[in-house]
Parts: sequence; structure tokens; C-alpha cells
Amino acid sequence: MTSWRRYLGVDLGSTTAKAVVVAEDGAIVSSSAIAMGAVSRAGMQKAVDAALAGAEIAAADLSGTVSTGYGRRLVPGAQRTFTEITCHARGTSAMVPGCRLVIDIGGQDSKAITVDEAGFVQEFAMNDRCASGTGRFYEVLATSVEVPIEELGALALRGSNDLEISTMCATFAETEIVSLLAQDAPVADIASSVHRAIAARTLALVAQVGRHEPVVLTGGVAQNPAAVEFLARALGTEVLVPEHPQITGAYGAALLARDADRRGRPVADDVAGADGLFPRPSEPHACGSCDGTIGAPAGHPVDLGLPLRLGG
Ligand code: ADP
Repeated sequence: MTSWRRYLGVDLGSTTAKAVVVAEDGAIVSSSAIAMGAVSRAGMQKAVDAALAGAEIAAADLSGTVSTGYGRRLVPGAQRTFTEITCHARGTSAMVPGCRLVIDIGGQDSKAITVDEAGFVQEFAMNDRCASGTGRFYEVLATSVEVPIEELGALALRGSNDLEISTMCATFAETEIVSLLAQDAPVADIASSVHRAIAARTLALVAQVGRHEPVVLTGGVAQNPAAVEFLARALGTEVLVPEHPQITGAYGAALLARDADRRGRPVADDVAGADGLFPRPSEPHACGSCDGTIGAPAGHPVDLGLPLRLGG
């Protein structure tokens, strides 16, 4: 048994499993991100194993585990699950102290979360009914223009002409991009124009919760420099990106495990029914007439009663 305490946070997302081990002071000891497809248990196990190996500990050495993400209930050994909203807010507030607006763009959803001075969630809006404005849309673009997702941002930043992108539907976007390619439009212009259109889409999400600054972009898409640049232009303000933007949810989960242990209570007993605080979308997304976003009504008690602190 180790003489110090270590905590594990696991974010089983729609495309990528993330795991983070933190120490008692909240410092990240190790982390991993494994892209293995939709809510992959194998990906999760690999991510957990890699994070534990990086921390040079075994699962039995952990003093607490919290999971989050779409697949959070599939994580064995987790004493507690929390929604992505809570964990992204917690992790991002610790990584970027003072942040007031978290925009998280993952593989299958995008969220805008306002955070108060103390790091508590105020309001959030979420698009998880439609691929527009999510990592999936960037993947469609990357596939259509035959560029690896890692190089898409550099390509888009080289674009100079604003082409009209008439659809924000991922299903039809591929057809439109192929049509532009057939018209011999420069690939860089197509890429930049799609990025610009997605940024405008994200602006609509932000409008649901109100603009607050500083703005922090997280999620896998935050690794795309053009996504950051076009969002900053659309918002008319600087967009900060943490050093490890894809692991903020897992980091927040690990900190929540640490916070509970620090108060001397098992994490499992910390807050009953916390997940139930968040309304999940129940209405089908109707293309064309709906903007695909849902959110907590103003003043909804999204805070979980946990003493979320800024900083580790
Ligand atoms: P989830 O939690 O839903 O699995 P992530 O936050 O891990 O989603 O983000 C996944 C998305 O991030 C992918 O759909 C892809 O668009 C984007 N992405 C992943 N890696 C990179 C990269 N190296 N550069 C640019 N974009 C990336």
C-alpha cells in the first residue's frame, strides 16, 4: 500500500476514454486518452491501465474513483458518477483559475457552461441531439477533404476566401463539401469556411447561457487551432485553452474524488442523487425548426452542493 493518496477520474466519452490520476494536492500525476470508438469498454480499460501505470500504482492503491461521460455507469470501481457538466466545470476551473465560461466540444456534443467566481456551475446549454458544431462535424470535414483530423486546423488556417456553407447538418455537409471540391474550390477555403460556420453555431449555444469572460475551450476539438481561432473571432474575445484540454472532465472527476476524501467522507456517500439534477433531453431533435440545444432553465440548481474551489 502506498503511503500517499491517489485518486482516479475516468471520462468515458462518445469517442475517447480519458483517465487522470491526481495526488492529494490536486496535481496531475498521470493521464491518458484512448480513442477507441463509441463508449468503448476496452478503450476505458486501456485508458485506466495507462493512467495507473503512469502513476506507478495499482487499482487497489486508489483512495477514490469518480467517473463521468456518456459511459460513466460502465466504469467498474467508481464509487460515484457525476455528469460531464459538473466534472468539466470542476476540472476547467482548477486548470484555468478564474474562468467564467467553459465551452466544451467533444465528439458527439457541445456544451456551454457558465461558472461563478467560486467555480460553481451557474447555467449550461448543451447540444447533444445534432452533430452540427461537434467533433463529429470536424471528422466529416476531415474525411471529405482527406486530411487527418490532427492536420485539419493547420489547413483551415491557410484558407482566405469565405465560401457559403448552406447546411450545418453533418449528414448533408459531406455532399456539400464534395460539391465544392467538384467546383475546384481550394481545400483550405472549404476547411476555413466550415470552421467559420461551426464557430457561428457555437455562438448560438453561448447565447443560451450568456457571454462571460474569460472563455475557455475544452474537449478534443480544443486541440484544433483553427477551431480556437474561429471561435475567438466569432466571440470577439480571446479563447483560452488549457494545456490538456481533452482531459478536463476526467481531471474534474478525480478532483471530486479527492475533495470528498479530504472531507473525511467516502465519495459514495457524498451527494445522493446528484446526477438526477440535470434534465436530459427527452424531445426528439427536429431538423430545420430547432437549434438542437437544450439547457437548464435560468436559476436551475445545477450546483451539487460540493465545495468546488478554484485551483487544485
Ligand atoms: P468525447 O468525450 O465525446 O469522446 P472528446 O472531447 O474526446 O469527445 O473529443 C473528440 C473529438 O475531438 C473528435 O471528434 C475530434 O473531432 C476531435 N479531436 C480529437 N483529437 C484531435 C486532434 N489531435 N486534433 C484536432 N481534433 C481532435
